Amino acid sequence: MPNIDTWAANPARGGRAGPGNMLGRLRAAAAAAPLVLGNGNFYTANDLQPRAEAAVVVDGRITFVGATPDALRRAPPGARRIDLHGATVLPGLSDAHAHLSGIGARELSFNLEGTKSLAELQKALRKRAAGGQPGTWLTGSGWIESRWSPAVFPTRQDLDAAVADRPVVLERADGHSLVANSQALQRAGIDRNTSDPPGGSVLRDATGVPTGMLIDNAMSLVERLLPPPSAQETARALEVGARRSVQLGWTQLQIAGNSFDEVEQLCRLYAAGRIQLRLYDAIYGPSADAERLLREGPDPQHCGGKLAVRGIKLYIDGALGSRGAALLEAYSDSSGSRGLLVNQPDRLFPLLTAALRRGIQVQTHSIGDRGNRIMLDLYARAFAAVPAGQRAVAEPRWRIEHAQILSPADIPRFAQLGVIASMQPSHAISDLFFAPARLGPERLRGAYAWHSLLNTGAIVAGGSDAPVEKGDPLVEFYAAVARRSVQGFADANWHPEQRVSRSQALKMFSVAPAYAAFQERDRGSIEVGKLADFTVLSTDIMSVPEPQILTSHVVMTIIGGEVAYAAGDAPAAR
Ligand SMILES: [Zn+2]
Repeated sequence: MPNIDTWAANPARGGRAGPGNMLGRLRAAAAAAPLVLGNGNFYTANDLQPRAEAAVVVDGRITFVGATPDALRRAPPGARRIDLHGATVLPGLSDAHAHLSGIGARELSFNLEGTKSLAELQKALRKRAAGGQPGTWLTGSGWIESRWSPAVFPTRQDLDAAVADRPVVLERADGHSLVANSQALQRAGIDRNTSDPPGGSVLRDATGVPTGMLIDNAMSLVERLLPPPSAQETARALEVGARRSVQLGWTQLQIAGNSFDEVEQLCRLYAAGRIQLRLYDAIYGPSADAERLLREGPDPQHCGGKLAVRGIKLYIDGALGSRGAALLEAYSDSSGSRGLLVNQPDRLFPLLTAALRRGIQVQTHSIGDRGNRIMLDLYARAFAAVPAGQRAVAEPRWRIEHAQILSPADIPRFAQLGVIASMQPSHAISDLFFAPARLGPERLRGAYAWHSLLNTGAIVAGGSDAPVEKGDPLVEFYAAVARRSVQGFADANWHPEQRVSRSQALKMFSVAPAYAAFQERDRGSIEVGKLADFTVLSTDIMSVPEPQILTSHVVMTIIGGEVAYAAGDAPAAR
């Protein structure tokens, strides 16, 4: 464990600093100066050397991992030194599935995250509307009804009661449904004669009149009327989203779908020094941008190397909360409905074979057991149609995003096909409040089945799906190991046997996302030769009682040997 005496014997010993100008000083000193991190409690995620207390960084890469006195001896002249005073150091954590502009937009806009009741939503809506322009659109997002009492979707009448003189559109936290008030429906021309678009549904009351809830592809009936965000607003959202992610301890975020426009905005932000977070990017498809990526091929070192563009993000179905997830059998709480396919599998097939030939990674949102089976079948068909010799990359590492509800027969197919399960532990601890009603007890056995997937040898990459969820690595880690709500609740329906060990959870947010991004040589563990990305925590989350994982905090986030975030209690570099 940390040898404070050795460190203290060195004249360059670090001390604690207040929040003040320390970060600015670190940034100024940063650039190329070598760095020694000493007296830390390192968990490396490298099985050959799982623990350490120090690391040396030169030119943004790790050159030594081991004991503090040895690190000090190997430190090049002029190295900055940070005495970690026993803080816990993890490999720089990666969020394998998130929506960066959405994270920023949630921070900047009308945020209904955590709304505890319909009355609270209405109160917030009234307050937001006060003083606004009658007739202009009022938009917001982040509500989720599953913990309200009663747990029912809001209606246009509920919104009208709060705001009737302007069109209101409020997106559910999962982004797969929205509720609109009467004026918004009227402007969109939605009435009892409106039919459901393919892959979408307009919910109706007993008399056939729309309730205001629009699911999946039906959302665009009103969303197309909304003024799109300006380039400036998007840039601001990206910057705010990146800053928030770094503060929460993420060193990389894998963007689950955007456009080349957004990619170029990100490049401008990197060039201006406004983003430090690393990014791995998937372009939404099918689209003209996805076709462009297929023509141009992957670019793993875009904008100076911090952004890799090499994926296409597809959707096959909707979400469980809004009953859009495609199920093999009907929903247990809605007779007859089996969910929605938002894309037709046969129409995706040419894109899949082109992606294999070009070395593009495909990642498909699949929630229901039918959605997952369809995509596993489709991937298998594409792999057979384009054998290894005809591929740009022999190991395509395609991914299923969410892999949420699986027929037990499909669980071993991930490892067999070499398909990565990209899963978000917090979804389980949010959804398990309503999933038993939607699915019934039998189907829960293959739901959020992290442990079963790992047992079959599948790679499980962990993410947060922020802004659908909070986007906090400590919540994700806790959810993966505790599989309880943040208040500690769980029952037999929550299938505790699907919990993972702490070292498995650590790998879900380090080694596995690196592999899922073709970056395992550069990232994912604290190892000589790898990029110097570290997440430093106040608490040893690998050993404390579960509730204390949630009360830990991020002390520092280090990206490429530079301190990208330091909390007020962070030790200073000397
Ligand atoms: Zn997502």
